[in-house]
Amino acid sequence: MGLNVIMLGAPGAGKGTQAERFARQRGLPKISTGDILRQGIKDALPVALVAKAKMDRGELIDDETMVTIVRERLARPDTNAGFVLDGFPRTVWQARSLDAIIDERGKGSLVIVDIVVPEEDLVRRLAGRRICSRCGQNANSSDGSTCQLCGGTLEQRADDGEQVVIERLKIYHRATEPLVDYYRGRPTFRTVNGAQPADRVARELDATIDDAAGAGARAALGAPGSAGR
Ligand code: AMP
Repeated sequence: MGLNVIMLGAPGAGKGTQAERFARQRGLPKISTGDILRQGIKDALPVALVAKAKMDRGELIDDETMVTIVRERLARPDTNAGFVLDGFPRTVWQARSLDAIIDERGKGSLVIVDIVVPEEDLVRRLAGRRICSRCGQNANSSDGSTCQLCGGTLEQRADDGEQVVIERLKIYHRATEPLVDYYRGRPTFRTVNGAQPADRVARELDATIDDAAGAGARAALGAPGSAGR
């Protein structure tokens, strides 16, 4: 059975970093819709160029476009053993579409982890966040100006400026937080305390995801008292 994971959490909660580490450790592809869009802009793909203005303002791209991108990505064979999604779904509509895609695939259930971080920490973290202009690796202002992986230049993301961060957090509360209610009743839904040092979050995530995956497998077998996808 595949290990299909989605990481929920506000911008700055550490989803990207944790998703990357977890995926690498388990040999699964990390699929970040933000990374796909940013790469599309670099490659001058029309769909990404249309999205760019919205991204720069911190607004969400329309659901149909995002679901098409994810549907195509999840059709690739490297997802056969599972995947780690970062930044998708971001609306209940996207979550429903993802459920339909997972059902069609028939390759394991969905583990949902919500990484919870207090609001004041989020704003501080986003202000210090950097990204490598060459390889896209996440970094921090305290890492200096050069990427430790590839030597590229570290930059602040266009959408990490203070005003745009405030807008992104507002949109998160309005459009994305309702996802927690959408998923909460499932046996494979878990929360993780993201306000700890990254290595402790990582350890908690590992144990939590394995536990939730076990619950998902039992639910799929129709174990008594387990309901869910
Ligand atoms: P991220 O790197 O996940 O913070 O995404 C950066 C930006 O890409 C977001 O602020 C949105 O403009 C856009 N984006 C990424 N994923 C999605 C999604 N699932 N739905 C809508 N917009 C998205």
